[in-house]
Amino acid sequence: DRESRRRSIADKVKSYPDFPKPGILFRDMFPLLRNPTDYRECINLFVEEIREKYPSTEVVVGIESRGFLFAPLMAQQLNVAFIPIRKAGKLPGQTISYSYALEYGNDTIEITRESIEAGQHVVVVDDLLATGGTLSASIELMNKAGASVECCMVLLELCDLKGRKKIKSPVYSMIPLN
Ligand code: AMP
Repeated sequence: DRESRRRSIADKVKSYPDFPKPGILFRDMFPLLRNPTDYRECINLFVEEIREKYPSTEVVVGIESRGFLFAPLMAQQLNVAFIPIRKAGKLPGQTISYSYALEYGNDTIEITRESIEAGQHVVVVDDLLATGGTLSASIELMNKAGASVECCMVLLELCDLKGRKKIKSPVYSMIPLN
């Protein structure tokens, strides 16, 4: 069943204490991607969730950079568009941008203006939900573009940080961690 499939994937995530700085328990999903069966399973689980709960999805949006490991593969399976959210200054042509506060300073994210149409149903994908800053900014950006965010999807959620509370769309996390 789906629960045991999720659990066998969860076992492959590695944890590194004090990386990249003291006090951070870094979660590394790359071991999971080394095994093609596990990687495929993880894409399949995301796709099944979308087919069941958000069948009107027209676009899968990936957040730079580890969101790009999942979103394009999901879009391919669903036969819908993939579009990237990138850091400011990386995308050519006209863009829509959104700036948000970080612990120190600001960050700006962008999408290509012509990549999205008002009213489109989108799913936003990233690797990991920590404080929720990145995902909530991404939702604001999509709303600025007139899109309707059906769901946010992440492989890993650091539940103790309660980032989910900041997200106004439904959140699906494949592997909730404490
Ligand atoms: P946040 O905006 O706080 O939700 O952070 C989200 C991004 O930070 C994710 O896309 C991750 O790539 C990265 N990140 C934050 N905390 C961790 C962690 N403990 N291990 C690995 N990546 C992390």
